[in-house]
Amino acid sequence: MALKTQVVSDSLMVSYPYIKEKRIFYFDGNGKITAENGTFINPSPNAFSLVHVEDCPGRTPVCESKCYVHRLRENEPEIYGRYRANSQAIRQALLGPYRTSITIDAFANWINSHCKKGGFRWHVSGDIFSVEYAWFIRGVVLKTPGIRYWIYTRSFHFSEVLSGLSNLAVNLSADRDNFERALVCQSQFGFRICCMITEGDTIPDLPEGSVIFPSHELRGRDLKNPLDAPWWKALTQKQRRMVCPPDFFGQSEVLRCGPCDKCLCL
Ligand code: SF4
Repeated sequence: MALKTQVVSDSLMVSYPYIKEKRIFYFDGNGKITAENGTFINPSPNAFSLVHVEDCPGRTPVCESKCYVHRLRENEPEIYGRYRANSQAIRQALLGPYRTSITIDAFANWINSHCKKGGFRWHVSGDIFSVEYAWFIRGVVLKTPGIRYWIYTRSFHFSEVLSGLSNLAVNLSADRDNFERALVCQSQFGFRICCMITEGDTIPDLPEGSVIFPSHELRGRDLKNPLDAPWWKALTQKQRRMVCPPDFFGQSEVLRCGPCDKCLCL
């Protein structure tokens, strides 16, 4: 029987003494993404997340209908409440250079002391909602050169701010609605395309190093033998090598981010 993905969370209180303010931020994580910070059944938090849909200005009709966070919100309401708290807190933190620089330092310190082994993922849920937030992410990444970061984004319009960082892997989340724009961005900045495929989609010609995420209805993880899934049988060898292993086959200690570094490698 497949094990349930463990979800974890931690909090960080940030003080702004000059203006006598305090703000709480939450870091989350789960068995799939914890990498070497933890294990599949005992993960450590290593992500900063926001609310889905509302904090995703580059969302598409396909991703909005298929987003895995709809299910997470139902199954993990407490965690999702923390995403909403983050969404409000980070907007407050971006009001001016004083708050922003203190928050960057606080994030950098927390990440340095918790995520050295396995790295840090921006957003299990949510995306880059403003140019100020894109610069915030850049600031944290630059302050922590010993940390490996990865991000998935449909906010292609902020790509330039995320470019040229040697410790940030940028994954352009694509689907049939935004694929052409993703391809333009990929060729301009050299980022990776991570393409969601849903039932009935023809898989486009993907650049080398791309990753394929099959939507729920195409996955083999609930079959006795996942290799019997019709969708898998129709793939070419090159396409099979691009498929996210835990998404198609199911998650485990070996089938997760870390042991797999398709989206993490630079
Ligand atoms: S392809 Fe690999 S690195 Fe990317 S999400 Fe799946 S397990 Fe993680």
